[in-house]
Amino acid sequence: MSYPLTPFILANAAKCIGCRACELACAAAHLRGGVSVGSLQGPLSPRLYLIRTDDVCVPVGCRHCEDAPCAAVCPNGAIHRTKSGVQVDAERCVGCKTCLAACPVGAMEMAQIWKNGQPVLRRVTDPVDPDSYSVEPALLASKCDLCHERKSGPACVEACPKDALTLVDPMKIKKRRSLEAALALAGVGARAGEEL
Ligand code: SF4
Ligand code: SF4
Repeated sequence: MSYPLTPFILANAAKCIGCRACELACAAAHLRGGVSVGSLQGPLSPRLYLIRTDDVCVPVGCRHCEDAPCAAVCPNGAIHRTKSGVQVDAERCVGCKTCLAACPVGAMEMAQIWKNGQPVLRRVTDPVDPDSYSVEPALLASKCDLCHERKSGPACVEACPKDALTLVDPMKIKKRRSLEAALALAGVGARAGEEL
């Protein structure tokens, strides 16, 4: 099966003011079951992460790699490239963190996954008494899913007050760059022709 190049969210560090509106919007967009940021009880789990150093402040997220290292290394087949980009199947993820180590941009996170407003749970067996166990929220692989189930598109792009985030279509960029190169060559060619 062939897919077109997958779009991805690109942030412009020159425009970002570090307000974290994108992280909040992302986390809220992935809380199902009527929970809003204002009434949130549990932790926020955004899928892009603001990186702040002395020199730069900008969110980083999944690039939806065409040959995704996270998908290649997952021992449980929980990460797949689909028509909507590289997606994590929480049902198959066991939280082993192999994908986190493999991601070249640090976009993978182990986070609480929510379903119908409730965290996905896991059973932890008591090492002393194997017959007893406790139930606690599971930390599973989580990353940008391009808001593929959201009708109005990526929540982070919509929320950024500085237009610092863009849903990039790689083919559009390639065509524009090729056109710019052709026009530049036309100018250079014309000048070179005059000199010869
Ligand atoms: S919402 Fe925009 S300006 Fe604010 S932190 Fe995110 S990218 Fe930066
Ligand atoms: S596109 Fe959606 S899932 Fe991806 S970082 Fe933006 S808000 Fe989060």
